[in-house]
Amino acid sequence: MSAAVVDLRSDTLTGPTPGMLEAIAAAEVGDDVYGEDPEVNALEAEVAALFGHEAALFCPTGSMANVLGVRAVVPAGQEVLCDSMAHIVRAELGSHAVVGQVTTRTWQAARGAFEADVALAMAVPDAGPYFVSTAAIAIEDTHNFGGGTVQSVDELRRLRAGAQALGLSVHLDGARLWNAHVVTGVSFQEYGSFADTISVCLSKGLGAPVGSVLVSSAERIAEARIWRKRLGGGMRQAGILAAAGRYALKHHIERLAEDHAHAHAIATALAGVDSSIIEPELVQTNIVATTWPSATAAQAFIAGCTAEGIRVGAVGSRVVRLVTHLDIDEAAAGRAADVLPGIAKQALTA
Ligand SMILES: *Cc1c(COP(=O)(O)O)cnc(C)c1O
Repeated sequence: MSAAVVDLRSDTLTGPTPGMLEAIAAAEVGDDVYGEDPEVNALEAEVAALFGHEAALFCPTGSMANVLGVRAVVPAGQEVLCDSMAHIVRAELGSHAVVGQVTTRTWQAARGAFEADVALAMAVPDAGPYFVSTAAIAIEDTHNFGGGTVQSVDELRRLRAGAQALGLSVHLDGARLWNAHVVTGVSFQEYGSFADTISVCLSKGLGAPVGSVLVSSAERIAEARIWRKRLGGGMRQAGILAAAGRYALKHHIERLAEDHAHAHAIATALAGVDSSIIEPELVQTNIVATTWPSATAAQAFIAGCTAEGIRVGAVGSRVVRLVTHLDIDEAAAGRAADVLPGIAKQALTA
């Protein structure tokens, strides 16, 4: 292995850029549990304003922002509806049940693309004494395990109107909402109008080392702040992290288009071997979710990649995910697109 490793396992793997390190070094800090960290306060005010909501809360992880957001709109013993591949139901280790005391029911959605009518038809608000009452519907945009799928803005609008008519809340897991914005051009103000609680990650494509932000009303955020501390998420001089996030918001949103172009190039190269692995037109953002005819072929592909210094991640027995990000430059993406077809060809004969 001569060239540097091209790590496509996740967009969480980025290191801070020199500009970001400068912002971290220059951060003015205080004790955030006392509400005295100027960088954290500024980040929370900026993100709340960006989405047109009253308040925001800096959280150590997106998982915590989601659990605080969902519990803010779903009383104990009631349910949140989401799709069967949603991060909140697959990848948060049951925290919504364990901590939030809420149950889930799920709908099936190809590539995670939701339809408002399907979600709304499942809802049973005020179900009476025998059935679980629905309190909220959760949507993920972009959809992670769906392969970076961008949700239809029309469907988001229809969901919002339908949920309001039924007295239901909407939680938007927007870990990669930045990527969706770059594709749709829809403003963050408008995305903000689609949901009661929104979580966004600073540590995915935006490239900050740590952190997510929960956005909602002042009242819900005040309560979420208590729950964050209750869960051990009260951080002290967190301004060094918030400063990285503020820098990322200024400098790393529009450049996500490069990650999308790199992902598309990689998908096109792989589809040239066999279009059943990936359909490039379905790669809308920075995630290339490849599907293999067998677990053996998937394992052979992963092993072949590793041998060539390209790291990729299994997200199912036959699904291997390749994710582009801030640390994958033109040359690294080009090398992946050059080398991957040969590896794929071999893997398909395994
Ligand atoms: C990454 C991610 C999260 C949060 O993950 P953490 O690792 O807890 O920060 C939430 N939702 C989606 C869709 C994600 O991809």
